[in-house]
Amino acid sequence: MFDSSQHPHRRLNPLTNEWILVSPHRAKRPWQGQVEDLPPEIRPVYDPACYLCPGNERAGGKVNPAYTGTFVFDNDFPALLPDTPGDEPPAHPLFRIQGERGLARVICFSPRHDLTLAEMDPADIRAVVNTWAEQTEDLGRRDFIGYVQVFENRGAMMGASNPHPHGQIWATERLPREVLKEDSAQRDYYAAHGRTLLADYLDEERRRGERVIYANETWTVLVPFWAIWPFETLLIAHRATGSIPALRPDERDGLADALHHVTVRYDNLFHTSFPYSMGFHQAPTDGAEHPHWHLHAHFYPPLLRSATVKKHMVGYEMLGTPQRDITPEQAAARLRDLSDQHYTKATKA
Ligand SMILES: [Zn+2]
Ligand SMILES: [Zn+2]
Repeated sequence: MFDSSQHPHRRLNPLTNEWILVSPHRAKRPWQGQVEDLPPEIRPVYDPACYLCPGNERAGGKVNPAYTGTFVFDNDFPALLPDTPGDEPPAHPLFRIQGERGLARVICFSPRHDLTLAEMDPADIRAVVNTWAEQTEDLGRRDFIGYVQVFENRGAMMGASNPHPHGQIWATERLPREVLKEDSAQRDYYAAHGRTLLADYLDEERRRGERVIYANETWTVLVPFWAIWPFETLLIAHRATGSIPALRPDERDGLADALHHVTVRYDNLFHTSFPYSMGFHQAPTDGAEHPHWHLHAHFYPPLLRSATVKKHMVGYEMLGTPQRDITPEQAAARLRDLSDQHYTKATKA
């Protein structure tokens, strides 16, 4: 008799139509996460050497204003440029090349150098949500921008070059690869069922409950059925709305609250400032209607069983299929059982 908590199997990610391999028999022993007593990283509220702190000088002699909330600027070393030339006629079908116009910006989440999303008040995270919405609108209304990718790369393990709390926005002419896959899968599902894929998925996850970590009135946080990263999560808006700017005020409150809860639990898991890449997937900004699009955020954290032991995407995963040992259900139970009080505050209390 097949048991998904015991037997090797594969699971389909319906957002991308890709499979992952799960090997739960390798994690049969009672699995204890390890909390290493690493000395906490003490950072100053203001760092005179940080190019993101208020009042400091950036590359090229630009000076940050004395900002008190969020602060957005054009990336000084942008991966994309707005005035790049257009397509060249293909010289050979195996050597295709396309000009790609775009813009890249940086968002400082807070003037405080020493905070992370997990340590910020939900009211201040709410200001970040508003900034994401404003930026999506501002960039998306340009006629050469077809998609706005909002993301945060957090922690040195993920290659984030500066600990100051900040995220990025890359806006491009065409849909990026992951978004293109999800656009196609959501479009097909909507055409077949008349509802968004994630609305039906969310209903079923809330009914089952085993992968849900946290929910408020407007957002649910869960470990997706098809998660690849050990503690990967998905934040899904309850209302099938397509973009951050389309969120109502109460939904923006709910998103800030959900982000607070998931990032605090992540830090509490291994008593460390949890590294991750996170970002939103939202409807294209090409001016067309996209009723099949359902706003959500992915968190992809690399840590596996302690503050220093990470999962590596190598070998079979590069050449075959991504694979995990602990099941998404086990990961969800671990995250769900953690306190929603940040561990640094809990130990001080
Ligand atoms: Zn700073
Ligand atoms: Zn997505």
